[in-house]
Amino acid sequence: MTDHPRRRTVTVDVGGVKVGSAHPIVVQSMTNTDTADVAATAAQVRALHAAGSELVRVTVNNEAAAEAVPHIVAQVDVPVIGDFHYNGHLLLTKYPACARALAKYRINPGNVGAKRRDEHFRTIIEVALANDRPVRIGVNWGSLDQQLLTELMDENARRAEPLDARDVLIEAMLASALRSAELAEQCGLPHDRIILSAKVSGVQDLVDVYRRLAQLAEYPLHLGLTEAGMGAKGIIASAAGLSILLQDGIGDTIRVSLTPRPGGDRTEEVQVAQQILQSLGLRSFTPQVSACPGCGRTTSTFFQDMAEQIQAHLREQMPRWRERYPGVESLRVAVMGCVVNGPGESKHADIGISLPGTFEEPKAPVYVDGRLEVTLKGDAIVPEFLRILEQYVATRYGQAVSPPASLRAAGGPAPA
Ligand code: SF4
Repeated sequence: MTDHPRRRTVTVDVGGVKVGSAHPIVVQSMTNTDTADVAATAAQVRALHAAGSELVRVTVNNEAAAEAVPHIVAQVDVPVIGDFHYNGHLLLTKYPACARALAKYRINPGNVGAKRRDEHFRTIIEVALANDRPVRIGVNWGSLDQQLLTELMDENARRAEPLDARDVLIEAMLASALRSAELAEQCGLPHDRIILSAKVSGVQDLVDVYRRLAQLAEYPLHLGLTEAGMGAKGIIASAAGLSILLQDGIGDTIRVSLTPRPGGDRTEEVQVAQQILQSLGLRSFTPQVSACPGCGRTTSTFFQDMAEQIQAHLREQMPRWRERYPGVESLRVAVMGCVVNGPGESKHADIGISLPGTFEEPKAPVYVDGRLEVTLKGDAIVPEFLRILEQYVATRYGQAVSPPASLRAAGGPAPA
């Protein structure tokens, strides 16, 4: 794993999950079911958790949702966070079972009321104190405290050299997060019960906001590009923004805010978050497959079918492997389309196969720990490779000891 230059010095405990300091960067997600629908929300929380989400947030937007929360929490095995806007002070006081069931409260300082803003904010902090719960002060530029923004805009207008509007907006986001954290501490909330976020939807804006936030405060930071969007756009924009900051050591917990397609899989946001962390070498979640894109040398679907079968096998086996073979999530597998780059890439992986390209001799060299282990031929290349892969995993991770014994010693096939 890559050394991560973490700057945070504070750790916040969220229902037993540690966020901040040198703790692993936590993956979190949010449901999109109606929270009042206990069965549907509990099912989605479980699905997100099974996909790897270590914290799951639900919106608590009305009385029915607040009433449902304890019943949802009773059916799941992951800390659940409540997302509050406008009426959080009312719901958390009227539904104490909801306040007790939640592991953390998210407060948006822009959405706690215009007139009695500080009073409502204080009420939520008092509930957090009474239940010994942390809060996330989550500023979002779509719902920024308008009073504060106007105040800073006016101040800016009086400057000899005014900042541009974007800079004032960033100033306002930072001020909103920091002033709210200060107010929470004045109300008695300990320093290590506060996480901050300041989300925007543009990659460069995100980088600027978080770089400044990281310099100004030592609270753990929840990192995410808000309203990232759908499909490739959402995934790529999130990966771009988060990677720049994570590489700088900024970010203690991440969420990828993807818009699913109608009927789409909500857990995709968890897979993307994990993949960002694993691609940066910050955490390992699942074996990584290096597969070549294919080209004119693999004009048939033969290579694609084989690559898909091998990837599917890894996905299917992971729940069992994770239990039996600690460390298997760091396995690196190469599935290459032909001998041009195949052997070279395979040597860099723990185990790799170069499938035969079009017009190439129907044989597939398999490399294990950088050495040619065997060359497979015939119609059963994939099952043979999967058998070697299983044997490799069992030998290497089953004993939880250093480098694997040779597959030959374990009775594997003889080299061609
Ligand atoms: S490894 Fe072979 S099949 Fe894959 S992209 Fe390179 S040349 Fe094409």
